[in-house]
Amino acid sequence: MPTVLYYPNDPIAAGGPPARNIAPEKFPATGAKFSVQPTAKPGTYKPLTPEFDFWQTQTALIAGLRTWKAMDGKSFPKFFGNKTTLPVLTNAGDDLNAFYNRDSLQFFAHTFNGVTVHSAASVDVVTHEEGHSFLDSIRPDFWDVPFIEVGGFHEAFGDCVALLTALGDKPICDRVVATTADLSAKHFVEALAEQLGDAIRREYGPQSVEAGALRHALNTFRWTDPTKLPPDAPASQLAGEVHSFARVFVGAFYDVVRNIYNTGPKTSAGLQAAAARAGQLLLAAGRTVPAAPRIFEGVGKRMLQAEATLNKGKYATEIRTAFQAHGMALPAPAASLPVPLEAKRATRGGGAAELRKRMGVPRDADLQITPVDSAMHEDMAHVTAFRPLPLSGVMDGVQVQVPATARVTRRGRSITGVVGEVVPAAGDVDNEARAFVRALVQNGDVRVPETAARRLRAPSVPQARRRQSATHEVKMVKGEPTLVRVGFS
Ligand SMILES: [Zn+2]
Repeated sequence: MPTVLYYPNDPIAAGGPPARNIAPEKFPATGAKFSVQPTAKPGTYKPLTPEFDFWQTQTALIAGLRTWKAMDGKSFPKFFGNKTTLPVLTNAGDDLNAFYNRDSLQFFAHTFNGVTVHSAASVDVVTHEEGHSFLDSIRPDFWDVPFIEVGGFHEAFGDCVALLTALGDKPICDRVVATTADLSAKHFVEALAEQLGDAIRREYGPQSVEAGALRHALNTFRWTDPTKLPPDAPASQLAGEVHSFARVFVGAFYDVVRNIYNTGPKTSAGLQAAAARAGQLLLAAGRTVPAAPRIFEGVGKRMLQAEATLNKGKYATEIRTAFQAHGMALPAPAASLPVPLEAKRATRGGGAAELRKRMGVPRDADLQITPVDSAMHEDMAHVTAFRPLPLSGVMDGVQVQVPATARVTRRGRSITGVVGEVVPAAGDVDNEARAFVRALVQNGDVRVPETAARRLRAPSVPQARRRQSATHEVKMVKGEPTLVRVGFS
């Protein structure tokens, strides 16, 4: 059987293991899989060819599926919409980007000054996008939430899956531990998407990305109210753009890995174990956290809670210290007890009507129900419901749907009680949505198709930088031009 060539991390990872000749891998027999296109027979191909991209991307996606299995203890079951197969395009056009849009993962190619970059060649980039598809499968309710921090958590989750995938590879961990035994220094794993970062930096200048990588997990960014950040800023500072703000969470998560690791033997096996533990906690927390504005702290709190439940709180201090270092003080874990809804009988209609009232959404608003699939919670679900908010002053003539969120207990299909706080679609939620949209517009992440543009009274939406893969579009929803998500980049 011929071997295939594989870059185990990023094509220009400095100090990383060299490209490997490996036996071609197939997707595991159980669980969901990807359909990478165009396909190629096993063989040794040159980088920047469709054949190389096929094997590189497929091998990276399989590594990402192993990461999921380590986080969850079982195979990744299904993509959003109950799909068992997700198409993957290794070269979907000219861009310095990658994209997940519920129907596919897309990677792009771009040439500048004679240098061509394929984003599919980086395991960091491929597993970041794969991470979006994982999170969307368990938390489809995040998709429509127009908050910087919720979008930022989606981005951070992708980066965490990339980190965990690298740290699940023994030769990679050997190199990292040899480079920095206590993980205090920079290295090729905390440096994410080096090649894509290098390409953006060469074309758009040193302010556009951090030195040495698209993003660094080893960072000192501290949480601050994202609605008060500028929509765009040099890469050395935080902005309200979701990838920029995500760095706060990625920094905290990587510090959880570092802190756990530093309590044990400073070995490659110790690093793999620390990463595996942090990954389990991240997934448990990601399942239970409400889709509310302060989600970074919310995830941190639930990582603490999961550590208390699953591991008797052994690493509580390490988790708390990590989040503290990024400006997030985590309160002690406390179980929230369900409070029954007041409706006289817990009929489906009665509970739901009262819930809509408490959520501050119209009486006919749809309740989106996302069941919590967790051994720690029985019959719990996240509920989101939306109210339209006109974006006057930000995108005149366009509205966005702002969410109210709640967690509920259910019996069968009936909503019987509320767990913790209900966050109504009012007040701060409006500010969150406006700040989110301002950053989207400023960063060229809104596409206005002709059909919607014709319906807008204010004709044009300012477009700073046009992107082929804008994450949002203005679509006609119930006759109104409405800003909706079409993907994550
Ligand atoms: Zn992303």
